[in-house]
Parts: sequence; C-alpha cells; structure tokens
Amino acid sequence: MSGDGSSGDGPVARAGVGAPVRSQGPPGAGTLMEASRPGRRAWSFPELDVRETRIPDEHRRAGPPALPEVAERDLVRHFTRLSQSNYGVDTGFYPLGSCSMKYNPKLAEAAAAIPGFQRVHPHQPEATVQGALQLVWRLERALCELTGMARVTFQPAAGASGELTGLLLMRAYHTKQGNPRTKVIIPDSAHGTNPASVTLAGYRVVAVPSNDRGLVDLDALRGLVDEDVAGFMVTNPNTLGLFEEEIQGITRAVHEVGGLVYYDGANLNAIMGRVRPGDMGFDIVHMNTHKTFATPHGGGGPGAGPVGVAPRLVPFLPAPTVERDDDTGEFRLDHDRPDSIGRVHGFFGNFGVLVRAYAYVYGYGGDGLKAVSEAAVLNANYLAALVGEAYPLAYPGRPMHEFVATARRLRKHGVRAMDVAKRLIDLGYHPSTVYFPLVVEEALMVEPTETESRETLEAFAEAMLQVAREAARDPDLLHEAPVTTPVRRLDEAGAARNLKLRW
Ligand SMILES: *Cc1c(COP(=O)(O)O)cnc(C)c1O
Repeated sequence: MSGDGSSGDGPVARAGVGAPVRSQGPPGAGTLMEASRPGRRAWSFPELDVRETRIPDEHRRAGPPALPEVAERDLVRHFTRLSQSNYGVDTGFYPLGSCSMKYNPKLAEAAAAIPGFQRVHPHQPEATVQGALQLVWRLERALCELTGMARVTFQPAAGASGELTGLLLMRAYHTKQGNPRTKVIIPDSAHGTNPASVTLAGYRVVAVPSNDRGLVDLDALRGLVDEDVAGFMVTNPNTLGLFEEEIQGITRAVHEVGGLVYYDGANLNAIMGRVRPGDMGFDIVHMNTHKTFATPHGGGGPGAGPVGVAPRLVPFLPAPTVERDDDTGEFRLDHDRPDSIGRVHGFFGNFGVLVRAYAYVYGYGGDGLKAVSEAAVLNANYLAALVGEAYPLAYPGRPMHEFVATARRLRKHGVRAMDVAKRLIDLGYHPSTVYFPLVVEEALMVEPTETESRETLEAFAEAMLQVAREAARDPDLLHEAPVTTPVRRLDEAGAARNLKLRW
C-alpha cells in the first residue's frame, strides 16, 4: 500500500528486523516444506483399470518435482491455519486510508455468481449475450450520471490502469490537435500511481506545491501552465482528504492554455451524488469500482478502473464500445472507431467486477449512494474528532471521507507512526495507512468508510488513544509490537528486494 514500505531508520526498525520470529506451535505450524516426510501422501488413486500409456520422453521431466510430501490432515490444517491468519473487512475494522476498505455487500457476490454471468464467454455471438451487454450499457449510463461525463470505457483492469488509459486519451486528443505536448502537472501530495502513470504515458511530471492549508496553490499553478502542458491531474477531495475549494479556478487555468484536466476518482465515496467532476470542469475521470462500488480488494485484484470522458474525447475511447439500437433495443459492440487508442485489456475488462459494481450502484439507487457519501464523511469526521487530542489533523479544516493526522506529538517519547501502526495490530485492528502522503510528517491516513458503526469507531478511537498513553508510559511496548502475530516486524525493503521464493 502507498507509503507503507518506508519504515525509515531509528529505533523503530530495531525489533526483529531480519529475524522474523515464528510463533511456537504444534507440528505443522511452519511451512509445508518443513512438514514434508518422504513417502507421505494426501491422496491415493484406485488401481489402474485402463491401458497404461507412456508420456513421450521429450515431454517427461528428468526427476520428480520437489513438492512437499504430507498427509491430507497436514495439508488441510496448513491451509486452514493460513486462512485464519488473514485479516479482511469480513473479520475486522480496516481503516486503511486512500483505499475505501468498505464492507462489500454479499448481494453483489451473489449477483456475480449467477451462472449466466459467471459462465459467459467473450467469444459468444452478440445475440446470446444481450443481458451482459445491457448490464455494461446500463452501468455506463449510471457512471456517466454520477461523474458528469459523456461516455465510459470499462476495459482498464484497475485504478493505475485507468490512469494510463486516461493519459493515453489525453495524448491522442492533443496529437489530433497537432501537438501531443510534453508535461503533466500534479500536486506534491498526489497518490504514487499518478506520477508513475504520467511517466509511462511519455509525459514529464511537473509538481505543483500545496499551500499551508493543504490545497493546490492556485497562484503557483498559474505560474506553471503554458502551451506545453498537456494536462493537470488531481484528486478531489485531495490526498489529504480535503476538498479543493478553488477547483473551478484550477480547471479554468488549465483550460485557458488548451490543457485537459484529469480527475483521479479512485475513491468517490466522499462526493457520490453530491458533486460531479464534470460540473467542476474535468475532462477525464477514472474510478475504482473495487473501492467505491464494492468488490473485495487488497489482495491484488481483480478490480476495474473505468474511465469516463467529456464529449470531445469520446472518439479516442478504447474499442469496442457497447451501443444500443434505439429502434430494436438490441445491444451490439462497435469496433469501428478509427480514432480509438485501441485496446487496453483483453475483451471487455474484468466483467465479474462490473457485475458487482452494477449490483451495488443499482441496489442502492441514487438516494442510497448519496446516503453512502454522507455517512462516509460523517464517520471520518467523527473519528478525527475522537482521536484529535492525541493525533491532530495535519492541516486545519474539515476532512471529507478520510483524514490525515500526525503522530508527531509522540516523537518526544521516541515513538513513531510505524510503532502506532504495529501496536494497533496487537489490539486487533488493521492499521491505518502510514507515512503517506509524503508531505506530512509522521502521517496516519485514516479512512473508516461508511459501513462502520458508531460502536466500532469508538472502540477503534479508544485503541488509538490507548496507544498514545502507552507511548508516554512504556514506549518499548510499542517498539516491540506486534507480539501477537505469526511473524514480528519484517525487513520490508529486504522482503521486496531480496526475494527468497523457495526453501
Ligand atoms: C488506490 C488509488 C489508486 C490506484 O488504484 P489501483 O486500483 O490500486 O491501481 C490511484 N489513485 C488513488 C487516489 C487511489 O486511492
């Protein structure tokens, strides 16, 4: 997750680095390889009752594969134990900021499991998949309504993939005007995928600073825009959880030099049914259905990152699009799009995720989605108020669906944001995002989401306040955390850079 990896130096990194502590357990509590004993089997086949055929030598392996040899009982215990070590929204509160780890309605799962959706094949003739095409068509109408965009493509596989698609649309538009331009401006507080996507799309990143209220500095932006700027990319509410009040001035300044404005709508939880990026002046919007519109995430996918565009960008959308014949009511795929940037995903994207989003959006309806954003903002503000004494907001003002606080007051005890996060694990919670956005010292980025009850928010706040009290009384308790997990603190940089994938 964003920023999570920067454990920094100093006392925090001390406990357990490079020496993960395995909990002592009965036989079989380690890896399957450690449980392996020659000749043990988890299965047995009946006697062969057909003629034996030899696999041709060139297709045979020279020796047996190095697989663990274990009994069925060991195998079942191993994987059941691993499944119980997992933490998710179905097991507990998950306040990871910039992630919208909301409870996913099981209704959406049931819809995705309907055999007609689950077993549909992308090569089926259009006449046999009218229901699937209608679902995509209706979901497109709903997202256009929510964002104020003209059309939406569903091909991108996730948020970052949507960003790249949106930036390629930007490039295609400018190229058609005669000059692709060279720069894209983003705020210094932006999500890490933004500069990465800009670079991947062949543009140079230019950062605009935040002002002392954590908002885009409009005067600084005016000083940066020129005819070489292809666009400006921002999320609103921004990565500090604050609404960019001068957003129309921002979009106007970029439009005046012929640039386009890109809305990172990964988390629409704060604004759904309230304000629309299109009305703020945005030309391109990507959404993360796996954050805003159900679909469990956090394990790496699958997701969907639909991209909506203003009318002048429609010709460049990935092909095919889903069209409806107004006379017959039939749906068809339109591949004949000469200015299209082409495909960005096989077939039509992650269709199962779109079914979940459809169930979510139409299940709630317009008023329901409005209530979702209201509750998301209320929950974040309530929690911020409960913990504010120990963890003040990084910037003054009213946060939206998430807030960024700082653990800087605990530094005098030698305690850092990472220690707070690790101690929360011992208290039974998934930690918040830490050290992100980068512009905030000892950042704790908390997003409770709308699906949590008042009791859960109050219990979590009490845990955070307990950690602050412990920091003053017994800082080593925090330095040593977590103590209740199968492994303690890991060398996160080493885990990524010196992969050991086998025993
Ligand atoms: C999560 C997120 C992304 C990236 O989305 P992925 O689906 O993880 O690729 C981009 N921008 C913001 C603001 C996000 O919160």
